Amino acid sequence: MDTRTAPLLSSPIQELLSERTSLSDWVSGFGSPLHVVFPAQARENYRQWEDLLGRAYGSCKIQFALKSCKSSALLQAFAKAGAGADVSSAQEIVSAFVNMVSAHDMAMTGPAKTNHEMALCLKHRIPIHVDCIEELRRLLDIAGWAGDPARLFLRLRPGSEARSRFGMSPDQIEECLNLLKAAGVDQIGYSFHLNDYEMSSRVRELGRCLQLARRSHAAGFRCCGIDIGGGFPMRYLAGFDRDTYNNGPLWSGRCASGTYPYAAETYGPFHAAAVIATALADPTDLAFLEAGNIPILLQPGRSLLDQCGVTAFRVTELKALDENSQIAVLDGMSFSLSETWFGSDFVPEPIIINVGNRAPRTADLHTYLVGRSCLESDVIRKRSIRPSNGISAGDLVVFVNTAGYQMDSNESAFHQIPLPRKLAAVRKSTGWAFHLDEQGSREE
Ligand SMILES: *Cc1c(COP(=O)(O)O)cnc(C)c1O
Repeated sequence: MDTRTAPLLSSPIQELLSERTSLSDWVSGFGSPLHVVFPAQARENYRQWEDLLGRAYGSCKIQFALKSCKSSALLQAFAKAGAGADVSSAQEIVSAFVNMVSAHDMAMTGPAKTNHEMALCLKHRIPIHVDCIEELRRLLDIAGWAGDPARLFLRLRPGSEARSRFGMSPDQIEECLNLLKAAGVDQIGYSFHLNDYEMSSRVRELGRCLQLARRSHAAGFRCCGIDIGGGFPMRYLAGFDRDTYNNGPLWSGRCASGTYPYAAETYGPFHAAAVIATALADPTDLAFLEAGNIPILLQPGRSLLDQCGVTAFRVTELKALDENSQIAVLDGMSFSLSETWFGSDFVPEPIIINVGNRAPRTADLHTYLVGRSCLESDVIRKRSIRPSNGISAGDLVVFVNTAGYQMDSNESAFHQIPLPRKLAAVRKSTGWAFHLDEQGSREE
């Protein structure tokens, strides 16, 4: 395997891959591709986040962003460990309820809420993140019959994303405060969500929120929280040489790695804790938060799911291209590996499990992985792989660390092929216990 893209692996995943037959049996039983999630890992991740954040600031609240993975088992594992949920639709609210998250621990952050969704949040007293002043007006109208706004957060437009269509400028925030005062709402929080992975931008935005919170406190509002959003980078690789990757060989000749920081030095909970510790270096800010018992909320999706899942595709066919290269057609489609949304590869190299028995298996050929659909663009990996033990029909191609966005963000039943199943697997002393991961199914 090209060491520059060899993925980091947890020990349970290493064990599962080295056993070979469990995963292959599951794919035979439940179809290809098959997603496997690990709720025990989710629990462990949550504890690590909580521990590291707690050292940076005493009152942090983690709300798992549901859109990053639709797994019921993982959500339940997070919720039972104490996490809240970041939801964006009525359907995600239902999912959070069914999987043990209380209304109090949810945050409705979707930027385009329907009246029905806002009323639902008001009825259940789910905190609402207001995206724009027009939305706030609509919300205050609905509050007339659906119930008083309990905890509202005003979303800031980050300074580094001046042209974003999400969030508000300082002037618009000011206008919201006037509306809220007139409506008799005296409790608000501030939030933002960044699209880059820079620590400095997050520190800066947290600083802006603190300033706003102190200012509105002086104007008579109580601050119910500061929400620093999600988007903390996840570490997939020990190191990554992007140029080598992009120089191919590539199926379509274009740059294929995208821009994701696959080998981020400060990642996940370490990144989040460092942001908070740096922003709270000023003792007056810290004293303000502590005096008001003001929580800092975070909504990680992807980075909370580190090592929480793998996706296995069965090889259907190998087609010769030329003497140095071939195509492996996988039983599945690129819709099941969502990085392809952005026209780029999911870079961590898949692991080949040789369980097929069709000869010949030629080692070291450049092999491109493609999906089974009728679309030329259905390419699962543009950068070739060169499996050291070769690859044959019937083998498994296993992508690891796929729980964050790579499983079901843009899956499709194209050609009427059913959506891939998910299994939740737990390592026991006697082997793996597993169950189908469906809405509301028990955790283990
Ligand atoms: C998508 C999103 C998140 C989660 O982002 P990750 O990159 O998965 O951590 C959190 N908050 C908001 C508002 C989002 O849109």
